[in-house]
Amino acid sequence: MKIPLSDFTLDELTELIEGYGEPKYRAKQIMRHIAAFDSYAEYTDVPKSLIKKVEENYADRAVAEKTRVTASDGAIRYLFETLCGDLVEAVFLPHDYGNSVCVSCQVGCGMGCVFCASGKYGMKRNLSAGEILAQALYVARDRKDVGGVNKLVMMGSGEPLANYENTIKFIRLLNAPYGLNIGMRSISVSTCGLPDVIERLADDGISCTLSLSLHAATDEKRKKIMRVAERYSVERLISAMRGYFDKTGRRVIIEYILIDGFNDTDGDVLALKNILKGLCCHVNLIPLNPTDGNRMRPPSKKKAYAFCEKLKSEGISASVRRSMGSDVAGACGQLKNRTAERGLNKTN
Ligand code: SAH
Repeated sequence: MKIPLSDFTLDELTELIEGYGEPKYRAKQIMRHIAAFDSYAEYTDVPKSLIKKVEENYADRAVAEKTRVTASDGAIRYLFETLCGDLVEAVFLPHDYGNSVCVSCQVGCGMGCVFCASGKYGMKRNLSAGEILAQALYVARDRKDVGGVNKLVMMGSGEPLANYENTIKFIRLLNAPYGLNIGMRSISVSTCGLPDVIERLADDGISCTLSLSLHAATDEKRKKIMRVAERYSVERLISAMRGYFDKTGRRVIIEYILIDGFNDTDGDVLALKNILKGLCCHVNLIPLNPTDGNRMRPPSKKKAYAFCEKLKSEGISASVRRSMGSDVAGACGQLKNRTAERGLNKTN
């Protein structure tokens, strides 16, 4: 199997190119083509003889579009095929303040959260940094006419901190001046909560926005919906998030799915207040996106906003996230599952 060029840092590519006996500046030229998601045919400023050598072992593109679904709100869900035939999803989200892309970091997910479609079939493999990057590059090229992409969220399928090395390499590639040049402040990583790894992030020089998928404020409740809660307590997690804030000065995000009758009571407001005391954070309330074969439902809009107001009256910064793209199977992994279950025959 060919290795995608998007897996290379500039230093790694320079070494490769010099190994072919070519001048260093060719690596920079190729880097620009990688960032533009060009095919080899578009490498017009690179000698054909060099392209031929590179082409032998390396692929110009790590992903190809298999299908897409466009939502009425402008969100687009892309289903990509990797070089080895795996399927991964990414989502384009247009906002008034700029466009963002949400990428996947694993094929499937091994974390086993009961509400999430990504984990329905377990985790098949980690994506490489270049495979994650290629999703963003593809979407940026595809949406160039509406301003491309200037924000990135790792909230697609997979657990970024369980694919740590590839995740931080990907973030560095994305952040590099020769890449999409997306600033750390415009990159968000969402984790189900692996405290030891959260503690490594800042030490490794990553200072992006960090979101913790908390979803329940007590261990007892969290264990009912997230397998990872068996391993780490809410207290341990919040302490790791506090450490991340202390090291980076970046306010952290607490994600909280609202599930009707399960975690949306006054008692839950107080439990949240108690656990988040003194943490510089914002709480993102996300009404559950019901997945196939799952009985849990979101609360009414009114109830969701009332929960939000109660949190705010307790002094906690909070907002209800508008769910985009829900009419195109908005929750993680659903397009892939539906398409795969149907035999890949959906084109729009
Ligand atoms: N593994 C990471 C990132 C992927 S999931 C994490 O757990 O954070 C991205 C976000 O979508 C997480 O907050 C996750 O809990 C949430 N999510 C998953 N399924 C959902 C659903 N059915 N409805 C609403 N949010 C969901």
